[in-house]
Amino acid sequence: MRSILITGGSRGIGAATARRAAAAGWAVCLTYRSDQAAASSVVAAIERHGGRAAAVRADVAVEADVVAAVEAAATLAPLGAVVANAGIVGEKTRVDELTVERVERMLTANVTGTIVTCREAVRRLSTAHGGRGGAIVLVSSAASRLGSPDEYVDYAASKAAVDTLGIGLAKEVADEGVRVGVVRPGIIDTEIHASGGQPDRVARLGPDLPMGRAGTADEVAAAIVWLASDEASYVTGSILDVAGGR
Ligand code: NAP
Repeated sequence: MRSILITGGSRGIGAATARRAAAAGWAVCLTYRSDQAAASSVVAAIERHGGRAAAVRADVAVEADVVAAVEAAATLAPLGAVVANAGIVGEKTRVDELTVERVERMLTANVTGTIVTCREAVRRLSTAHGGRGGAIVLVSSAASRLGSPDEYVDYAASKAAVDTLGIGLAKEVADEGVRVGVVRPGIIDTEIHASGGQPDRVARLGPDLPMGRAGTADEVAAAIVWLASDEASYVTGSILDVAGGR
């Protein structure tokens, strides 16, 4: 059994990925920033189904937390995959209203946090570091190609950085046994919209999407778990839109 680290696994896409990964036979180490009860309930659900899981408090904006989280995953079972899922949006705003404090918070969590997660993953997985290879999956957003005007262009820009990180890192470690994939969700029914001050976003925008509805966290999780699996053994540097045609 190999372990998979999922950052931001206490709810939403990360929690759905944790449940699917456990069902696929991974030992799951999930992280959360503040909601320990939610993280514990994901672990309990996995264990009830006979799976193996642990939850670790780790803020991806704090380097030492990320280092410790990867270490914890590798302690659970030999590390096989890392999903850099944790991410934040901000309140709906325009670029001409942005504050430096907000932009820095966004970039630290979504970009620096993802880069440090990748660094630690490569140090564990890469054959150049004595590892046994594995997969890294980055959770970006369709916002990276749409730009999110009048909502959160800073968020969209942070996700464009994630796309580019995936492309470059994939090439860097392709001959070291490490595959890198990027998943770009569209509008998915999770609590992230409420955290950005738009609790009605899914209900408001869902019907106008090409498929006439928002996606579910589990539909995104399916793509993430597939990219992490050996089924995707010749897939690296790919960006997979899970956006219902958006
Ligand atoms: P969510 O429901 O808000 O869940 C976010 C998760 O990330 C939670 O487990 C949260 O932990 C954790 N988290 C937040 N900030 C963190 C930090 N600094 N360090 C560690 N963990 C942190 O979000 P989601 O919708 O599932 O989104 C997951 C990913 O998908 C994000 O990267 C997001 O940008 C991306 N995405 C989502 C959508 C969408 O429509 N939902 C669309 C495109 C892309 P706590 O519960 O402890 O706070």
